[in-house]
Amino acid sequence: MQFFQRLSTLVLILSLALGVSVAQAQSGDTKRAITQISGDLYRFQNNFHYSVFLITPEGAIVTDPINAEAATWLKDEIKKRFNKPIRYVVYSHDHRDHIAGGEVFAETGATVVAHENAKRAIIGEGRPTAVPDLTFTDRMTLELGGKTVELIYLGKSHSDNLIVMNFPEERTLFTVDFISVKRLPFKGLSDAYIPEWISAIRKVDAIDFDILAPGHGPMGKKQDAADHAQYIQDLYDAVLAAAREGKSLDEMKTSIKMEAYKDWSQHEAWLPLNIEGVYRQVSLHRRGN
Ligand SMILES: [Zn+2]
Repeated sequence: MQFFQRLSTLVLILSLALGVSVAQAQSGDTKRAITQISGDLYRFQNNFHYSVFLITPEGAIVTDPINAEAATWLKDEIKKRFNKPIRYVVYSHDHRDHIAGGEVFAETGATVVAHENAKRAIIGEGRPTAVPDLTFTDRMTLELGGKTVELIYLGKSHSDNLIVMNFPEERTLFTVDFISVKRLPFKGLSDAYIPEWISAIRKVDAIDFDILAPGHGPMGKKQDAADHAQYIQDLYDAVLAAAREGKSLDEMKTSIKMEAYKDWSQHEAWLPLNIEGVYRQVSLHRRGN
């Protein structure tokens, strides 16, 4: 049995690698697409942003709306292809570029779900989206039409309200701005909590899944989580060591090369900004010495 399960996972990963596309649309400069990840779980692309959605007999569970136009397109596609109402919309975290446009789903009666801290930030920062109806602090399981999704908060990381979403039947974990696949974390790591982020990613190891679906860039597998944590750890160690040697930020940008990750995407463009982000936090911590 296990062999066949592994085999089907392999077939699945292969079909993902081949990019089996269910729907594609190009309107102006916006690239939108829907791709099947596994079973009833689909990946939605809007340019460089991705979210996922689950189809159940009783309706759809969608995740990040991305923006109002994107959400409207997705809502229409789900209606056309699956003829299902949208019952839940789950936000990954409070950042505007992922969760704007939630009202498009909320207006049709969907329940909006997010971490408790995300609700606070959405209201406080006036994010252009629907305010969550349902919040949680550590963990919540949504059940609809015999399918489940587990919403898990692993601690502070890229923000203080970022959650991961586990789809057990599809063996897929959806993570946004938290783990990327062979790609550096975004630019200057603003809003991030670096040491906490590393421990939060390491907790992913206890979740049982095979496929990693990030909010940006290519799909991956479980090992990519550990690799991403290691990158942030190595970067943190390098910046801390350089700070202890009395190096300036400019000197660090020249001396810290992160050679082991030179094949990762955005290595050249974002490494100096990643160094700056960690440097800011390390300086804050060291001020207490
Ligand atoms: Zn973000």
